[in-house]
Amino acid sequence: MDFLTPEQEMWRETVFRFMDEEVGRDYVREKDRNREYPYEGYRKVVSQGWIGLLVPEEQGGQGGDIFSYALMCEGLARYGPDFATALMVPMFTAQNIVRHGSAEQAAHYIEPFLAGEMRFVISLSEPQAGSDAANARTRARRDGDEWVVNGQKLWNSGGGAKGAVLCALVRTEAGSERHDGLSVLLIPNDAAGVTVHKIEALARRATGSNTIFFDDVRLPGHALLGAEGQGWQIMTEHLELERISIAAGYVGCAQQAVDDACDYARTREQFGQPIFDFQVIRHMLADMQTRVDAARLLTYRAAAAANGGGPCPKEAAMAKLFASETLQEVSRQGVQIMGGVGTTPEADMERYFREGMQATIGGGTSQIQRTIIAKHMRHGR
Ligand SMILES: Cc1cc2nc3c(=O)[nH]c(=O)nc-3n(C[C@H](O)[C@H](O)[C@H](O)COP(=O)(O)OP(=O)(O)OC[C@H]3O[C@@H](n4cnc5c(N)ncnc54)[C@H](O)[C@@H]3O)c2cc1C
Repeated sequence: MDFLTPEQEMWRETVFRFMDEEVGRDYVREKDRNREYPYEGYRKVVSQGWIGLLVPEEQGGQGGDIFSYALMCEGLARYGPDFATALMVPMFTAQNIVRHGSAEQAAHYIEPFLAGEMRFVISLSEPQAGSDAANARTRARRDGDEWVVNGQKLWNSGGGAKGAVLCALVRTEAGSERHDGLSVLLIPNDAAGVTVHKIEALARRATGSNTIFFDDVRLPGHALLGAEGQGWQIMTEHLELERISIAAGYVGCAQQAVDDACDYARTREQFGQPIFDFQVIRHMLADMQTRVDAARLLTYRAAAAANGGGPCPKEAAMAKLFASETLQEVSRQGVQIMGGVGTTPEADMERYFREGMQATIGGGTSQIQRTIIAKHMRHGR
């Protein structure tokens, strides 16, 4: 990618090398196998100071840009998006507090986040509110200076980890329609009345996806992020950055899937020759690499657009759509190229494949990304 500046290229290489030398492929694999949150890997990223890349310098962060952040996501996810999710989700969710939080909230939340003691997770989905996220029914009512929350969230990634604070979309106005009356509350996962259950899902086994119940959870008034009723607007902005982040992660892992398949094809011999020398195999690899490069270009374009101040919902949707489908496709082809070996945990390809299946669902399904893209095309944007 010679259109990256030398500084961007160096940063990208730094993160890729860090993943190799400080975290490692075996660690990511083991966390998936054991369904364990990757606390140690998380801590290593925090100790580099990278967790605050997007946090302004005046709040103690690095004041970095979204493009640099996308390069970081690409590197963190090289051995699997699940590991990167543990870090990306708190990083992109923290931006909601940076952008919409009061000075009091910034002081309360950002410092422990930068120290690695608090991590933010995003909580839109509910049993009846999947693609239709605005159909949230979790309710919060005021009681004096406090909020009282009741309801259920679903599929929350990372919500079971120590120090997790949910950035949750809740309904604060009784009887209001759809997008109106939605607000964002910051809910610590250890608040009284919060119950978290990890879901035994196909992917995201380490960071974990959770169902979370709220039973008369009492929160202080400052738990409200932004203004009451501003929830949908905050989440719309949020989803743009989320989609760029995860697209970058899928590109990083898709590249690793191609590299692993290529390495295997060069060394595995059948009928007296490396399987790479069968034209059908090397053409598969050529198509896989072409797809990954295209996904990377779309992702870099979206990150550059967001860097320029956005909004860029169409570019973010295109990047997310294509990068997630690319990971799914190249990991499926990767398993095929590796034969039986590709189906074993040690080969990692089966994990990339599981992650690829999840990739076209989480963060908004492929069908929803196409709907967003088409909506912008209809309006000529
Ligand atoms: C592992 C994992 C982690 C997740 N992490 C989080 C998280 O951290 N926080 C969070 O809030 N959510 C999270 N999610 C939830 C995710 O955002 C939803 O799963 C996703 O939005 C789809 O919702 P659903 O699963 O209810 O499917 P549904 O919305 O029920 O969709 C089912 C099918 O119908 C299609 N469909 C639905 N509506 C339309 C339409 N209008 N047009 C065309 N097709 C449509 C979908 O594309 C899909 O194919 C996670 C999900 C998973 C699987």
